[in-house]
Amino acid sequence: MSFADIPLEEKQRVIGELSAIKADFASRGWFAGTSGNLSMRVGEYRPDAFHFAVTASGKDKSKSTPEDFLFVDQAGKPCETTRLKPSAETVIHCEIYRKTGCGAIFHTHTVFNNLVSEWFWERRHVPVEGVELIKAFNIWDEEAVIQIPIVSNFADVPRIVPEITEKLDPRIPGILLRKHGIYAWGEDAFAAKRHLEAFEFLFEYAYRWELLKSGKAL
Ligand SMILES: [Zn+2]
Repeated sequence: MSFADIPLEEKQRVIGELSAIKADFASRGWFAGTSGNLSMRVGEYRPDAFHFAVTASGKDKSKSTPEDFLFVDQAGKPCETTRLKPSAETVIHCEIYRKTGCGAIFHTHTVFNNLVSEWFWERRHVPVEGVELIKAFNIWDEEAVIQIPIVSNFADVPRIVPEITEKLDPRIPGILLRKHGIYAWGEDAFAAKRHLEAFEFLFEYAYRWELLKSGKAL
């Protein structure tokens, strides 16, 4: 399916959903200093051929404007004539869609996701044991133990992609970049948002639990 074959109303629905999520996350302070990015897929999917809307680079995400999003293809190239540039991290979205076939990907920088990515860096994952909210990822085992992968952060973003290819765990709908932020995804925007909220809860829990164990908190 070419981009031109995707109905306009489907593209408008995706932009509408992304705008609402952008406003919601901005109100939580999840886009400090224009950081973070959001994307949502449109049209049919094949691992080597798909399209998605993604946040434009360098915009203030607390404002809503006609320049907030643009559509790109599986290589991160704009589908239409535009002066807008896709987010510099669009290649990471491309790889997550290619590997998972998901419907939406949200990326935020928060203090807790940065702290745990550094604290657990030597293990290359954040361990979480038996916390109820693990069920948000559709993992229902009693006392489930999960490991949320952490990959290197490089200024040259395409260098991050091979580590994502290697470390992405199909059971866990998220991956941390060291001292950078989380990418969370889901079959649609609702699922991706649920997963992102669950990750942020679990990161704060993991951080506070480490402090408690060390006797340095509350
Ligand atoms: Zn980022």
